[in-house]
Amino acid sequence: MPDLEDLYREIILDHYRNPRNRGELDTPPAVRAEGFNPLCGDEVIVYVRLANGVIDDIKVGGQGCSISQASASMMSATVIGRTTEELHRLNHAFKTMMSIEPDPDDPPPANGNGADIKLGDLEALKGVVKFPVRIKCATLSWHTLTQALEEAQATA
Ligand code: ZN
Repeated sequence: MPDLEDLYREIILDHYRNPRNRGELDTPPAVRAEGFNPLCGDEVIVYVRLANGVIDDIKVGGQGCSISQASASMMSATVIGRTTEELHRLNHAFKTMMSIEPDPDDPPPANGNGADIKLGDLEALKGVVKFPVRIKCATLSWHTLTQALEEAQATA
């Protein structure tokens, strides 16, 4: 049986080496937000385009450690095509997994146990919880996405 930690490491490295949804979008109609984690020097830039309450397209830029960039890649692949309502629940599930107090704006999954929300590859970041200083690396892209969506909703 393969070691779960090895599997997680492989998923993280795969996203780091082959980042999904890398690039830029035209603003407008997309919005752009930038996040920075001074503890590690990570930078994440998120472009997101909303259409009828759905994340129609998302692109990610920036640079930093493997955790921050792999997390941004996983986040982009997970949220594309989701409604903003699903996104709040994903955010809740992800932050709970990362042992962070979820944002009061992000309600828990409807059935209370997260079974309707699949974190998929994001589960590979679970191991980061053991290294508290890296949690900010893993959550940076989510904070940046939240910022971008707030901007999108403010300008809508
Ligand atoms: Zn980092």
